[in-house]
Amino acid sequence: MTLYDLIFPPMCPYCGELTGDVRESCERCAKLLEAEPHKTPLDCGAVCWSVFIYGDSTQKAILDYKYRRRKQSGKSFALTLTRIIEEYIGRDNIDLITGVPAKKDYSGSRFDQVMFLMKRLTKITGIPNRQTLMLTRKKQFQHSLNKDERRENVKGLFRVILPDDVKDKRILLIDDVVTTGATLDSCAEELLNSGAKSVVCLTLAW
Ligand SMILES: [Zn+2]
Repeated sequence: MTLYDLIFPPMCPYCGELTGDVRESCERCAKLLEAEPHKTPLDCGAVCWSVFIYGDSTQKAILDYKYRRRKQSGKSFALTLTRIIEEYIGRDNIDLITGVPAKKDYSGSRFDQVMFLMKRLTKITGIPNRQTLMLTRKKQFQHSLNKDERRENVKGLFRVILPDDVKDKRILLIDDVVTTGATLDSCAEELLNSGAKSVVCLTLAW
């Protein structure tokens, strides 16, 4: 156990119960993670796997992680994402892990919740990670937009930083939540247009 674990003891991301070591959840909350992951088809042909429905305790868990920077939750989430990779996507089918770039709307917070997950996934799986996408402009708030408006809102928003990094790679694209899929679709399309061999997306919630 590290000093960090003493100050921030491992706990269930969903209910806060102390778990002693880093786990996906406490026993009581394990049912939240029981269901088969959900598959959202994206317009570009890629698929997004998601672990659970965004609601009540799972929403609170993600918001606590994101805005209260509860890194212990990120460690638990990374275990869950790793399980999905191993059981459904296949570790051998991924060359590179990347993420949807930080939302500039939330500047002021230096904690990048997607980057943290990417790093944890690399630590657990050994698959390398790299930030391959950048925002070309400040991202507008999407919450009140419908699917078409969201698609328009993210058009041209993402750009691959160095096409050589993604060329011929089978890429796993990470985000915390998928809603309409417009953001992930825009990122995946940009990766594919830049030479990626394939893209599969993975989020915690849908
Ligand atoms: Zn729990």
